[in-house]
Amino acid sequence: MTINIKNVSEAEVTCSNCQACCCRLEVMIITDTGVPETYIATDEWGAETMLRLEDGWCAALDRETLMCSIYENRPWICREFEMGSYECRVEREA
Ligand code: SF4
Ligand code: SF4
Repeated sequence: MTINIKNVSEAEVTCSNCQACCCRLEVMIITDTGVPETYIATDEWGAETMLRLEDGWCAALDRETLMCSIYENRPWICREFEMGSYECRVEREA
């Protein structure tokens, strides 16, 4: 699949006009940032990821505001995911 991101300008890319697309991705928990246990899924090998619910979004996403409910404790990957980056725009287009 080819994704054309050229027609999405930097100025248009903001979390306030996005449906929290990046909060549907698999998020590995690499560094302990204090994510509450209730939001963590552990696989059979012990790897930890953010739990995703049936709607596809991370369990920690506030469904009404589409904002992270554990912002201060969000995983390292979420902290590194930059608004307006290539990855961000790819997710929005997808
Ligand atoms: S970082 Fe990008 S993909 Fe994630 S919510 Fe913000 S605009 Fe959407
Ligand atoms: S922890 Fe917060 S920022 Fe990270 S995927 Fe979940 S809702 Fe999004």
